[in-house]
Amino acid sequence: MYELGHFIDGKRVAGKSGRVSNIFNPATGEVQGTVALASDAELSAAVESAKAAQPKWAATNPQRRARVFMKFVELLNANMNELAEILSREHGKTIEDAKGDLIRGLEVCEFVIGIPHLQKSEFTEGAGPGIDMYSIRQAVGIGAGITPFNFPAMIPMWMFAPAIACGNAFILKPSERDPSVPIRLAELMIEAGLPAGILNVVNGDKGAVDAILTHPDIAAVSFVGSTPIARYVYGTAAMNGKRAQCFGGAKNHMIIMPDADMDQAANALMGAGYGSAGERCMAISVAVPVGEETANRLIEKLTPMVESLRIGPYTDEKADMGPVVTKEAEQRIRSLIDSGVEQGAKLVVDGRDFKLQGYEQGHFIGGCLFDNVTPDMDIYKTEIFGPVLSVVRAKTYEEALDLPMKHEYGNGVAIYTRDGDAARDFASRINIGMVGVNVPIPVPLAYHSFGGWKSSSFGDLNQHGTDSIKFWTRTKTITERWPSGIKGGAEFVIPTMK
Ligand code: NAD
Repeated sequence: MYELGHFIDGKRVAGKSGRVSNIFNPATGEVQGTVALASDAELSAAVESAKAAQPKWAATNPQRRARVFMKFVELLNANMNELAEILSREHGKTIEDAKGDLIRGLEVCEFVIGIPHLQKSEFTEGAGPGIDMYSIRQAVGIGAGITPFNFPAMIPMWMFAPAIACGNAFILKPSERDPSVPIRLAELMIEAGLPAGILNVVNGDKGAVDAILTHPDIAAVSFVGSTPIARYVYGTAAMNGKRAQCFGGAKNHMIIMPDADMDQAANALMGAGYGSAGERCMAISVAVPVGEETANRLIEKLTPMVESLRIGPYTDEKADMGPVVTKEAEQRIRSLIDSGVEQGAKLVVDGRDFKLQGYEQGHFIGGCLFDNVTPDMDIYKTEIFGPVLSVVRAKTYEEALDLPMKHEYGNGVAIYTRDGDAARDFASRINIGMVGVNVPIPVPLAYHSFGGWKSSSFGDLNQHGTDSIKFWTRTKTITERWPSGIKGGAEFVIPTMK
């Protein structure tokens, strides 16, 4: 058993609110620790520390800021095994998948090492007689990030790396389900040379989130989690005068055209549908084969693959996937699977009875495969966030395209085909933020931007890439004329370039 507090002003501190939340081991169902839930006063203490440290950090030249990230990347690599172990123990995902979570975050840290170039701005010489004009991008001041349980390393790094590289101080409020890795990341940032107060981790629940959203000294908020909370955070942040970018849930489709390589498509669906037990916002949860023959071939290929998924605790090196995160998540997923059966979908592979000897209390669910799913069913409309793949049969390409187009969510989508025309038409017409052509999980790399459309995202600037530099900075435009350029007397008409 361990007790996790917060990380404020460069060190770990115990929680003082008297409120805690249990941290479970998803493989055994046992409580392995507790995490403190911050009070308003604890959040304020973190903001005070950030406020004191930020001006000096913003004034630190960008090469020095970049060097902290160079060292941090080295430390992440050196501590990779330990971090992956802590991550898997609280999240349940396999060790290799936990390393992927860490590496995807590390890549964003590598990207922001380019901050001297990324934060450079525009200059116009001779904008008017003797007039020069330039725009600079300054840090917003104090930023905050509220993150979900499913990527406890990558998503905090999506946020704090660009925010801090731009010269901000940052307050991270991680998921209360797997909060240990974020605290270790903050410790490693200090070891890498970050001044105390620039990265604070405040653990908590809705109370801490509301304290962030209403704190007058926090200028910008980044959120990733489920859609109802994303919508709430976006609205509340805006009402309190803060800049916000909020990313929500998903229901990602994969269209399989009759000419697709069926082995490739089936392998892609296995990884994208069942990897991390389906607990990824870019998981494929709907497969749409075009034409009856394609659908029959797909089901025939997938069925034995889903039946032979290897499911185990993170300590099983050969496991394809682990348990889901909590008892509540397990119950929610099970009730959605039941609803699919009740509403008439065909459960081709039923993973509900899966049991693992020695881990009877763990939150394991076997892989489930549904066929003949229709758009009116709850398993189609809802984000299940579990190891459940639904096959919706479409007669034509247009009918297939219509499905993700009309879905509430718009995070990711993929098409499998050999036909360049079909792929190009699809990428151009689809109303979804991230598109894969023969790529099942089209998560953009760190130097491009990540973000969905429709109910998957609120706000107009995405995570990482150049969008993140814009989000974490404000533009200031300076117009200057020196006395030698000033001619004539007072001007009462608005100056124009006539
Ligand atoms: P969640 O919405 O339950 O929690 C996210 C964060 O919000 C946590 O830090 C949590 O403490 C906080 N929170 C929870 N309830 C709150 C409330 N009532 N008021 C204020 N704050 C609250 O999400 P989760 O279960 O941790 O993560 C899974 C969800 O995240 C899925 O819907 C998934 O699709 C989504 N997700 C989206 C992306 C993306 O980029 N679009 C990426 C990863 C995960």
